[in-house]
Amino acid sequence: MQDFVFQNSTKIIFGKDQEQVVGQESVVYGKKLLLHYGGGRIKNNGLYDTVVKSLHDQGIEIVELGGVKPNPRVSLVREGIALCKEHDIDFILAVGGGSVIDSAKAIAAGAKYDGDVWDFFTGKEAVSDCLPIGVVLTIPAAGSESSSGTVITNEDGWYKRATGHMKMRPQFAILNPVLTYTLPSYQTACGITDMMAHILERYFTNEKNVELTDRLCEAALRTIIHNAHTVLEEPTNYAARAEIMWSGTIAHNDLLGTGRIGDWGSHDIEHELSGIYDIAHGAGLAIIFPAWMKYVYKHDVNRFVQFANRVWDVEIDMNNPEKTALAGIKKTEQFFSSIGMPVTMKEAEIGEEHFEEMAKKATERGPLGNFIKLYEPDVYQIYQLAK
Ligand code: NAP
Ligand code: FE
Repeated sequence: MQDFVFQNSTKIIFGKDQEQVVGQESVVYGKKLLLHYGGGRIKNNGLYDTVVKSLHDQGIEIVELGGVKPNPRVSLVREGIALCKEHDIDFILAVGGGSVIDSAKAIAAGAKYDGDVWDFFTGKEAVSDCLPIGVVLTIPAAGSESSSGTVITNEDGWYKRATGHMKMRPQFAILNPVLTYTLPSYQTACGITDMMAHILERYFTNEKNVELTDRLCEAALRTIIHNAHTVLEEPTNYAARAEIMWSGTIAHNDLLGTGRIGDWGSHDIEHELSGIYDIAHGAGLAIIFPAWMKYVYKHDVNRFVQFANRVWDVEIDMNNPEKTALAGIKKTEQFFSSIGMPVTMKEAEIGEEHFEEMAKKATERGPLGNFIKLYEPDVYQIYQLAK
């Protein structure tokens, strides 16, 4: 096991009606707040009114910025930064999913910086300070509600890039599973895929003595798999929605990566897909992850055998470990398919025309991944395998 520091200070407030305490939680950070959200959904379903009332009850002054699109854009981030500077904002509240939260995080960093916020995403500048942010989560998926990262798309060239800093971790995140009842099946499934991918990125490591972390990863994966079909068939099943919601946070709050270095190649390879084609990140991962597994499993067949056996209950064939490993990969692919995800480029109506460009862009800052290092030709091969 490698040495590590684990510190996740996001306060999780979990349960029915908990969005009503957002005012009390926010006022701790000041009286001028930027309320950040996506489309008109929260205005139509009453969540906006509940949040605004709770903030007003605490005497908080609100500046609003809606309109965050999935795969959030840097142009709106720049608008948010300008608003924060103009109104001397103390705190940013994100109401929505990963896209709104990531946009809020980028605004929070940009508000404390004199240059252009995109500098943080090209590596030209490192984030050093941020406004504090809080979250009312409406979709379990990205885990951004307690992660230290943000992923933003630059429309100029359709680059989707990530950056992060410990100070970007939200101060609090309110998780009410009831708020996720309205999620369409497709978004629910995209979220399930993304949270599983966050665990798998950490599971496929070269670290050998990491049993507790392995077992935690396997438990989280099994819990998600066990509840996935229930939430799709019974969208208002509180128990199942709650399991999925908490799993999404646990999957990406760094606990499941303790003592090891994760891979993250599949995420980087996927970001080119959602950057160029504007597909949902989870759907992109359902296409890329099985292809990545097929490309790399020979590097450590035993780890894939363990995965197949402990996560998917595949019986171990002692005489043919490769067969067991491949059965686990197949089960993963079949599961994504069973929840309505595309598992090939073709199913997502994506052709080969950008494979070379995507492989080049994905690796322009160096090779990807840690399980094995992937260079431009490897990434190209993975896109080919995902056809
Ligand atoms: P999202 O892009 O935030 O939301 C997807 C869609 O679901 C939006 O149209 C949203 O509408 C809608 N929606 C949200 N909650 C809903 C509800 N309760 N009922 C009905 N519709 C609802 O989805 P996400 O998967 O959470 O975030 C994806 C982004 O996060 C990607 O850009 C991905 O790259 C990034 N990501 C970030 C991290 C990180 O650690 N920072 C990790 C992984 C992925 P509204 O616009 O109205 O909200
Ligand atoms: Fe992700």
